[in-house]
Amino acid sequence: MLHQAPKTQTHPRVLGTRRGPPALRQCCDSYICPVCDQVVELTDFRQVVWHQRPGHEPMEMDD
Ligand SMILES: [Zn+2]
Repeated sequence: MLHQAPKTQTHPRVLGTRRGPPALRQCCDSYICPVCDQVVELTDFRQVVWHQRPGHEPMEMDD
């Protein structure tokens, strides 16, 4: 008793969408800086700008 054609065709994932710069393609509010291995909070604009500079050093942070 098939009421319709079987759904063998899976819906393809959207691969072509490009939203935002690929370097910041993260799921969370922070990422590991590839230059200095420090955690960068994307919510802190100063940290984002700091870690975009080539050859920078880890930002000094003291809570
Ligand atoms: Zn950095």
